[in-house]
Amino acid sequence: MLIELFIAILIISLVSLLGVFTLSINRKRLDNSLDLLVSLSVGALLGGVFLHLIPELVEEGVFSDVSIFVLGGILLFFVLEKFVFWHHCHKSEHEHLCFSYMNLVGDGLHNLLDGVLLAGAFLINVQVGFATAIAVLLHEIPQEIGDFGVLMKGGFSRKKALLANFATALTAFIGAIIALVFNAFVIGVVPIIVAIAAGGFIYIAGTDLIPELHKNPNAKESLLQLVFILIGVGAMGVLLFL
Ligand SMILES: [Zn+2]
Ligand SMILES: [Zn+2]
Repeated sequence: MLIELFIAILIISLVSLLGVFTLSINRKRLDNSLDLLVSLSVGALLGGVFLHLIPELVEEGVFSDVSIFVLGGILLFFVLEKFVFWHHCHKSEHEHLCFSYMNLVGDGLHNLLDGVLLAGAFLINVQVGFATAIAVLLHEIPQEIGDFGVLMKGGFSRKKALLANFATALTAFIGAIIALVFNAFVIGVVPIIVAIAAGGFIYIAGTDLIPELHKNPNAKESLLQLVFILIGVGAMGVLLFL
């Protein structure tokens, strides 16, 4: 189980290096394909949470308040994100750079959450772990390409942006280790961690990803986005039968 977990996290961390390949791609084409990737990952995230994680937690029946902890997770991530933005940037010539650093902190927190959830999912069983790893991998592709773009815009050199983004990706390992340690010392904590992290995923889909899709009002593109969301959900549904 541990081997599968750490291989999954390593592969997902390497996604943080993908951004460098996008430098040569035409801007508009990149934006359009990123939107479809984001749509796919919205479907995969929500499908992962509602088709795999929550049903699994309910089925295990270890604790009866699954929905309370999911709700708590959503609220917790609102508070965490606020906390990141409390250190707001004052208007100055360094505003871009400051925004980049804030993005790094937010990114690190996000990837920490991914690690916690992945470990929790693999602790439930390898199948739930595998479905969760795919959902994480899919949303990390547009996420990390976006992170790289923000850092470059903020004045980071290509090399520094890659290194910083990779470093924040590695926080997923810390998240996984935190979850494993909690699991070793606190009996019955894993389903609670997974429920809270599932709430975090719902929050990310609703506040980070979906608003991104609303920036494009084009009817044809919007329809395509819906199709890709459904493909994402469908892929998670298909995984149930494997
Ligand atoms: Zn993520
Ligand atoms: Zn990143």
